[in-house]
Amino acid sequence: MTEATSEQRQRAQALAALLERYNHEYYVLDAPTVPDAEYDRLFRELQQLEHEFPELWTHFSPTHRIGGAPLPAFDSVTHTVPMLSLSNAFSDLQQDDFASRHAELIAFDERVSKDLAAANVEYATEPKFDGLAVSLLYRDGVLVQAATRGDGASGENVTANIRTVRSVPLKLAVANVPALLEVRGEVLMLKRDFERLNDVQRERGDKTFANPRNAAAGSLRQLDSRITAQRRLSFFAYAIAQVEGADWPATHAGEMDWLAELGFPVVAAALRPVVQGATGLAGYYEGVLAQRAALPFEIDGVVYKVNSRAQQARLGFVSRAPRWAIAHKFPAEEALTRVEAIEEQV
Ligand code: NAD
Repeated sequence: MTEATSEQRQRAQALAALLERYNHEYYVLDAPTVPDAEYDRLFRELQQLEHEFPELWTHFSPTHRIGGAPLPAFDSVTHTVPMLSLSNAFSDLQQDDFASRHAELIAFDERVSKDLAAANVEYATEPKFDGLAVSLLYRDGVLVQAATRGDGASGENVTANIRTVRSVPLKLAVANVPALLEVRGEVLMLKRDFERLNDVQRERGDKTFANPRNAAAGSLRQLDSRITAQRRLSFFAYAIAQVEGADWPATHAGEMDWLAELGFPVVAAALRPVVQGATGLAGYYEGVLAQRAALPFEIDGVVYKVNSRAQQARLGFVSRAPRWAIAHKFPAEEALTRVEAIEEQV
């Protein structure tokens, strides 16, 4: 096995340091200085180097970490079930033939099919909301705690702020409520609310936000919940992490339908079909990509989850993400208004 050259070693160190800086700006300061596509490019380069030369990998590598440290100004909440990230796949839309266009998607489906020893695996599909993940805990149908993802193991207690988000149910309005329910979802700002907020910020001579994601993150992580209340945040549920005292649906699609019945906002059924195999996934990806601009919220891709929870359990997890799900990212939409041009930084 060949060893990394000193140039490759230095490059890996420089990439790790740069990605750490970008993580801090994005997750802690809510103020990124480079577009996501640039971050993703550097992340992949580091992943590739570490894959090729395992001796370059360290426990501190950004490729194995989730998010950023929770802000000390908030109480910290330990996640009983860790809040993970998602592995990414990209497509090369310049390619005409299916196999080259969607090579990474095909590789994901092949790996899943092989590990499950099954053909035509069923996947639940969803848009990938460009906001921030939160966990909502309900006891006997009452919202008792809301937390951000933080570093995946513990996040910020944002219960007071989440209570100001109108679409989040404070009490579940159904007859048989579970004794305990933990719902995961995304807090985001609709495009029209983002435009309005930036208009107000401009009128007041205050700083405007780079994009709806940063506006949502900055608004949710306010120490004064009266400010959060003025910001018009939205919420979409996309997973269940814990259930006690009720039947837990056997499929992801079933979970989503149950969440809708319980009163949680979930994306319209037409935007979350269950499909089969790589061709089904690619059809969904291209269909949603065509609708992207018309959606009321920003998305940076789509997410696929193996539909059967029993199959999910068999596939399990790697360090920072489930092996049964993947985020299929869209091509870059250069959304960062503050960064006009990206200089070669390393
Ligand atoms: P991710 O955004 O690639 O995927 C995981 C997240 O997706 C979840 O935590 C959840 O919040 C979200 N999500 C949205 N819709 C979902 C759905 N339907 N089901 C499940 N999850 C859903 O991973 P990440 O670790 O949150 O962030 C990494 C990404 O953030 C990078 O790929 C990059 O694009 C961006 N980033 C940018 C900078 C920068 O400086 N520009 C810095 C750090 C990270």
